[in-house]
Amino acid sequence: MASTSDIEWTEQTWNPTTGCTKVSAGCKHCYAEVMANRLQAMGTPGYENNFKLTLQPSRLNQPLLRKKATIYFVNSMSDLFHEDIPDSYLDKVFDVIDLTPQHTYQILTKRADRLPKYFTNRKCPPNVWLGVSVEDIKHGIRRIDYLRQVNAHIRFLSVEPLLEDVGKLNLSDIHWVIVGGESGHRARPMKKEWAESIRDQCEDAGVAFFFKQWGGWGADGVKRAKAHNGRELSGKVWDNYPVVSI
Ligand code: SF4
Repeated sequence: MASTSDIEWTEQTWNPTTGCTKVSAGCKHCYAEVMANRLQAMGTPGYENNFKLTLQPSRLNQPLLRKKATIYFVNSMSDLFHEDIPDSYLDKVFDVIDLTPQHTYQILTKRADRLPKYFTNRKCPPNVWLGVSVEDIKHGIRRIDYLRQVNAHIRFLSVEPLLEDVGKLNLSDIHWVIVGGESGHRARPMKKEWAESIRDQCEDAGVAFFFKQWGGWGADGVKRAKAHNGRELSGKVWDNYPVVSI
């Protein structure tokens, strides 16, 4: 089975593909790449190809075996809409999602341009929360427009790692925004004002706001261990989720 997740806003991970290639600034210190290196070194099944994009058909049935309603983060170790994953394989993934309405699937991509094309031929299932990464203006903003074109039940933005002030966001038809700073030794800093601006925009627009973490740099602009920087923004923990009504 998929392992228990340590991602704050989900319950389990399901990786029907593994591996990826870098597409934008947010990929620079890719956590999945580091993990794939480690898992290969440990001889973990499924990581024989390290970080090379690999279909994992033997994992397709994992959610079918789990009866308990579960929130799955799909592809913590890959990008489901990677250009090397054929539509026919995506169909298999979405067949499983359709067959397991008891579960919720959170799918996050940086290949947002593929979303409207794929979902032209197939309805996005109601138990999918579909999201795009918005780490900066150059790569992130256009992804939101692609996401908006898909008739997903919940549309969300993962603004992580937040690398600059992304300015005024168009949050129409967006239900949830997650903001976080980068972790790790080489973490790039996130400024308090950048995160607060997004929080304020979400409040104004009535969009659920989740502040995941500061990461490697604190609210005071000092670099230290992630655990010491906490999860408070402006003196408060922001743990809001979108309202789901199916
Ligand atoms: S898209 Fe995601 S998984 Fe792929 S390289 Fe970038 S950060 Fe890593």
